[in-house]
Amino acid sequence: MSTDAFPTRRGRMEYVCTQCGARRGVEELLYTCPECGGVFLLEDLDFESMKETPAPVWRELFDARRATRNTALRGIFRFYELMAPVLEQEDIVYLGEGDTPIIEASPALRDALGVRFAFKNEGQNPSASFKDRGMAGAFSYLRALVRMHGWDEVLTICASTGDTSAAAALYASYVGGGIRSVVLLPHGKVTPQQLSQPLGSGALVLEIPGVFDDCMKVVEYLAEHYRVALLNSKNSWRILGQESYAYECAQWYGWDLAGKSLFVPVGNAGNITAIMSGLLKMHSLGIIEKLPRLFGVQSHHADPVWRYYSRPEAERRYEPVKVQASVAQAAMIGNPVSFPRVKKLVARYTAAGGDFNMVQVTEQAIMDAMIIANRHGHIACTQGGECLAGLLRARELGLIDKSDFSILDATAHALKFSGFQNMYMEDSFPPEFGVKARPELVCAPRLLLSPERRAMLDETAFTAEAAGELARAAGLKSR
Ligand SMILES: *Cc1c(COP(=O)(O)O)cnc(C)c1O
Ligand SMILES: [Zn+2]
Repeated sequence: MSTDAFPTRRGRMEYVCTQCGARRGVEELLYTCPECGGVFLLEDLDFESMKETPAPVWRELFDARRATRNTALRGIFRFYELMAPVLEQEDIVYLGEGDTPIIEASPALRDALGVRFAFKNEGQNPSASFKDRGMAGAFSYLRALVRMHGWDEVLTICASTGDTSAAAALYASYVGGGIRSVVLLPHGKVTPQQLSQPLGSGALVLEIPGVFDDCMKVVEYLAEHYRVALLNSKNSWRILGQESYAYECAQWYGWDLAGKSLFVPVGNAGNITAIMSGLLKMHSLGIIEKLPRLFGVQSHHADPVWRYYSRPEAERRYEPVKVQASVAQAAMIGNPVSFPRVKKLVARYTAAGGDFNMVQVTEQAIMDAMIIANRHGHIACTQGGECLAGLLRARELGLIDKSDFSILDATAHALKFSGFQNMYMEDSFPPEFGVKARPELVCAPRLLLSPERRAMLDETAFTAEAAGELARAAGLKSR
């Protein structure tokens, strides 16, 4: 089969409730179970039949597709058969998402920290975060629905800590054709860069006072009472799209993740759900032989999932937490929607021989880790810093040793969170964050000449004096 040919095999997908097990067809966009209110996962009823194809054949197919010229298969749908084998080629939206690089820690950084790791740079997605993977999934499905039902108008809505709205607005504005985007943000709780994104895409941007969890309640109410398409991770088509992260990690390392650990920041817990689901699918088809170890990371200011798993199994009880100020703002969520999915999948993951852990890190550790990483040529956001802090914490706890290799999810581009970097450089964090700058990590601009001094100099004198000041500042020697 040519690598450009769109696959012909179709699966039969159903929503499956993670709580009561109820099943529903995918002709409708559903978020929660009509029986019990639980969240869904999507399942291909014909998944088992994929086992008739030997694992090496699947690996070869996905590897061959790396060379495809068919844009429908160039992004996350390189792994079409594993994700949403009900979509038609014409439905698929491709804006260059996926296929992000995995960049090994610079040798100096590795030696300084004494751990072996790499960042997968999700900031190199079109809207600069991994959320594009999920949106490519959700919007492709939405286009399929529009085609099947002949709808002429669809209003999409999402609550967001910043990146979901950026991605939703981007895909909606590209697809157009009656698909419009509304985003709801917690006022003052997304970065200026993130806010600029849905504005630039022309979305209807609305804000309420409060935190993300408040916005989530409002959009859930809307989805129940009005005709809207919810694009939060309650929408399980987003989870499917985000599974591509796991497939890409495996492919990058020749389909061998044995001895590797994946670190993932946990907010609403959609991402870690998707990654676990993807790993389990590959494992069950024999595409990977061993499951990697999986570590979820949370800040001590927003740590409901860590709290749950930090208790002995018999005493585990889920309780939402009230979040405090966090530099890992995109994960600053006290009541993660996907927690029931995590619980279900962790049980499956450990039953399949995988190892799942949660680690908790401080705000200070997150900032220090991000700054140190980026001083060594990385482009990690605060959540990427959170993963590195999580790796260091795991080593401290004896969960990781020197020879282990970890893949850290740098979930967004550093530029989206530059405000936190600035606060660090100016040592101006508001007290509620509890972050102090380490002087050796501070990097701040210096003015070489005052405007008054410059005004006193003619052009020749100015050039010589500025050059002299620069040479002194940089410690240059004359030739
Ligand atoms: C959304 C987001 C997270 C949290 O992911 P969840 O799926 O909500 O757990 C982490 N980092 C960034 C940059 C995000 O945008
Ligand atoms: Zn149910």
